[in-house]
Amino acid sequence: MIANYHTHTHRCNHAIGREDEYVQEALKAGLKILGWADHAPYLFTGGYYSHFRMRPAQLEGYIRVIEELRQKYAGMIEMPIGLETEYYPKHFGRLVEFLQDYPIDYMILGQHFLENEYDGPYSGYVTQDKDVVRRYCNQSMEAMNTGLFTYFAHPDLIHFDGDRRFYGECLRPVCAEAKSLGLPLEINLLGIREGRHYPNRCFWEVAAEEGCEVVLGCDAHAPAGLNAPEAEREALAMAKELGLHVLDTVQLRSIHR
Ligand SMILES: [Zn+2]
Ligand SMILES: [Zn+2]
Repeated sequence: MIANYHTHTHRCNHAIGREDEYVQEALKAGLKILGWADHAPYLFTGGYYSHFRMRPAQLEGYIRVIEELRQKYAGMIEMPIGLETEYYPKHFGRLVEFLQDYPIDYMILGQHFLENEYDGPYSGYVTQDKDVVRRYCNQSMEAMNTGLFTYFAHPDLIHFDGDRRFYGECLRPVCAEAKSLGLPLEINLLGIREGRHYPNRCFWEVAAEEGCEVVLGCDAHAPAGLNAPEAEREALAMAKELGLHVLDTVQLRSIHR
């Protein structure tokens, strides 16, 4: 890997290490591009706030630290500033509006919840409910069509424990849409490292049939997550076997109007 666009910081309350340690680990791993994509600050209404993302007031500090590191490591590694963002229909517009004033280079889509987080289930909870899968697919396609996402992180986060044929056919339009929009899908190395239910081979078979472009993402929540050659090898082996086209770098999509 020469680029990783999926890196977190302590601001999300479930990542550890100083930002500088992440950069040093990235350099050790030979990365030329270290993209930061911590969990986006959302502007919810009605007093609710997530426990797993930075607060809006932390965004400035996040940007400042990365800008300082850019200077410190100038000429050694590129560091685009991104965010990992869910598409929550009720709040997404306000978030994008808020972000316009900040030098955010890109967003990746991570659809961790259905609906609006506080009223829908976690996408990764095991389910046999076909309707949950359908809703995940519809919401993801709506998200991709905003044109604001650079790629789709762990698109196979949805955890359906039922008919594989149904799962594949339900996710097929998501893959087809990603292909037609030129939006890469991420094979998530954290899922491999931690033996999670993703990457889901069934999903990637469909993605290969649809000719989707693929990118590897470390989803690092600790510096060591940027240097995981075994997970990388496993992901590349699957991609090769299925005939998936793996990109070294991706084209960042602007979030600015
Ligand atoms: Zn996270
Ligand atoms: Zn992530």
